[in-house]
Amino acid sequence: MSQIDTLPPLREVVERHGLMAQKSLGQNFLFDLNLTSRIARAAGPLDGETVVEIGPGPGGLTRALLANGAGRVIAVERDRRCLPALAEIAAHYPGRLEVIDGDALAVDLSIHLGGLPARIIANLPYNIGTPLLVGWLSLEPWPSWWSSLTLMFQREVAERIVATPEQRADYGRLAVLANWRCETKILFDVPRSAFVPSPKITSSVVQLVPRPKLEPCEQRLLERVTLAAFGQRRKMLRQSLKAVTPDPQPMIDAAGLSPTARAEEVPVSGFVRLANAFAALKTG
Ligand code: SAM
Repeated sequence: MSQIDTLPPLREVVERHGLMAQKSLGQNFLFDLNLTSRIARAAGPLDGETVVEIGPGPGGLTRALLANGAGRVIAVERDRRCLPALAEIAAHYPGRLEVIDGDALAVDLSIHLGGLPARIIANLPYNIGTPLLVGWLSLEPWPSWWSSLTLMFQREVAERIVATPEQRADYGRLAVLANWRCETKILFDVPRSAFVPSPKITSSVVQLVPRPKLEPCEQRLLERVTLAAFGQRRKMLRQSLKAVTPDPQPMIDAAGLSPTARAEEVPVSGFVRLANAFAALKTG
């Protein structure tokens, strides 16, 4: 598919609207509509689906989402310079694109969705990618309003999302939260050269699909336990967990873990058991 729509090429759009990329807004634009279509298709069939996009910029991915059948796209963009370019796309796809002029970290998307489920598909601004993801992963009740996340991150962040204890250097709090709540995988890499301007490192598209049934535990306590354990990741649990309780041994025993284990050796299910043992300790 060399031509996905009859709108002008993105380079022309960017020039006409004076959209010089701003580093402070994490702006690395994709101009290749074949690539943005690949990202859109990687999310799964979009026919009639509602999609939330964060940071549409000049609209390369937005156009691909619409051309690939998304029934409705709700796009949140902080850079007002992009709004006229996005209005042109909205006019091309009447009634299917709603642009929210605002900060994605502050907008309550569930209000705009009116109770409908949505996929989130985005080439995220690298400077707020992790806080956005943690926010989506922390929503209650679970599963929440989004049915999948298909997101572009810097490769090193992508590796931290999908990591298991086998990838010790990358395995941490983010991987525990992400893999407790979702099935995660890296779909494909996108080279630096695909972006304008080129970032310093390769990016990757990551897919997260909510687990319908979670290993039960209180997220707040899971966070406290992983913060303590990975806060001193080289130390044994019997030492690092002193940050949450003066004597962690009973909690470690109740979780069926070795007191000499280190955070980076404990699988997600081990952290869930630790969080539940911590809850029992607090109520006991
Ligand atoms: N989707 C476009 C593409 O793929 O070419 C642009 C992606 S660019 C990596 C990130 C976009 O997020 C930019 O358009 C930027 O202005 C926008 N952005 C940055 N911070 C934002 C925020 N807090 N809320 C909403 N959009 C933001």
